[in-house]
Amino acid sequence: MDYLPVFLDLRERTVVVAGGGEVALRKVELLRAAGARVRVIAPTLTGGLASLQLAGHIEHRAAEFAPANLDGAALVIAATDNPQINAAVHAAATARGLFVNVVDDAELCSFVMPAIIDRSPVLVAVGTAGNAPVLARHVRALLETVLPQRLGLLAALAGRWRARVRSALPSLPARRRFWDNFLDGPLARQLLHGSAEVADIEQQLAAQLAYTGGTRAKRGEVWLIGAGPGDPDLLTLRAQQLLQQCDVVLYDRLVDASVLDRVRRDAERVFVGKEPGQHRVTQERIHALLLEYAGRGLRVARLKGGDPLIFGRGGEELAVLAAAGIPVTIVPGVTAALGAAAGAGIALTQRGLAQSVTFVTAMGEAAAALDWRSLAAPLQTVVFYMGVAQLPRIVERLIAHGAPPDRAAALVERATLPGQRAISGRLYDIDARAREARISAPALLVVGDTVPGALMGSLASAGTAAGSSKSE
Ligand code: SAH
Repeated sequence: MDYLPVFLDLRERTVVVAGGGEVALRKVELLRAAGARVRVIAPTLTGGLASLQLAGHIEHRAAEFAPANLDGAALVIAATDNPQINAAVHAAATARGLFVNVVDDAELCSFVMPAIIDRSPVLVAVGTAGNAPVLARHVRALLETVLPQRLGLLAALAGRWRARVRSALPSLPARRRFWDNFLDGPLARQLLHGSAEVADIEQQLAAQLAYTGGTRAKRGEVWLIGAGPGDPDLLTLRAQQLLQQCDVVLYDRLVDASVLDRVRRDAERVFVGKEPGQHRVTQERIHALLLEYAGRGLRVARLKGGDPLIFGRGGEELAVLAAAGIPVTIVPGVTAALGAAAGAGIALTQRGLAQSVTFVTAMGEAAAALDWRSLAAPLQTVVFYMGVAQLPRIVERLIAHGAPPDRAAALVERATLPGQRAISGRLYDIDARAREARISAPALLVVGDTVPGALMGSLASAGTAAGSSKSE
């Protein structure tokens, strides 16, 4: 190691910053966040520093740097744009045995400022020993995406409970087991992923500690995760974090292979799609599998296309799991309608053209029960899920209930996935155009004046691309 990473307690300590510009300001802000008393040495101060000085948050010495400015300092930073002054600061600090950082001059640094991921009280510092500060920022960006925002809450909770756990479990191995179980278990995850309040978690933690001494067997849990419309980059950060932690994933037909690639390598993969024509996995079977895997103490990711609570029967799975007392975390996903709107450039609630947007499914018998008059009304966008096979009947019903035959409509196939196709037309010809282009599932029908004539990601000429023969 070129450097030893340490965390400094700077509360009530004086840190000297030489320089009055933007670079100095950024350092001063960090130092203040860590509770340091900051003394700025510079003939003049620019905007941000001037405001800090006016507010009495920093001590300002309006002069060129002199070694006497270091009296009482614990740490020194040189952030002027003048190399001679920076070198003088370095020399003066070194002569006094003080650690000094000269911004952008690795040679003159006896300490470096890392890139920071702040989930206080959890702090992650990334350094490259001055070799590649930009690389450090890349590493930080990467870590930002994998560390849950609420990590700090979890650490603070553990901190509050340390003494209690120590007195309840005097043996160190037992204590370690307790914390391992807690941090890797459903309580911690519910806290991290926002499905429980801190107070609830603490109550359950108290119960666990009192009744079992923390030795209780691992509890299974289920995460209902939205996989988004297809493109894996549209997974939420939380979905990715959990997919990296699951023991088993139960996934639907609509979950793209590129999304499955983001699942932890050694997790078991179980396909529970309802493939037309092939052996069907019934909803009851899915419920049974969820209960079975969670019952074995596993962390089960139930991965559904789009959002798990939109036309995905997620509600039924939630009810079954809740009835069995299995902890469930729900992670929303980008629903197909939003993916299609983004992919095809349809502003679903464009001012003046639509005041509302409706997501509807027009499958089978249930379609007859829909309020077609309201779906045919003007000033709205209606998105039909699972609609391709029903297209002629949907169009017929909309027109029969008062929609003008020349109302704009679009079909978006494989939205956000490679090979996405979109076609637009009017109610009277959208079915013919869809046949010509051989649009097939998965696709969405969008109806409303918000559908523009020229769609993004649309076909150059309808009918040239070979459609697949999959049906809804
Ligand atoms: N829970 C899902 C919807 C499941 S219903 C969600 O929130 O998106 C399945 C229907 O969604 C399909 O029949 C199709 O109409 C639509 N769909 C899902 N993914 C799609 C995609 N990538 N492109 C177009 N339509 C899609």
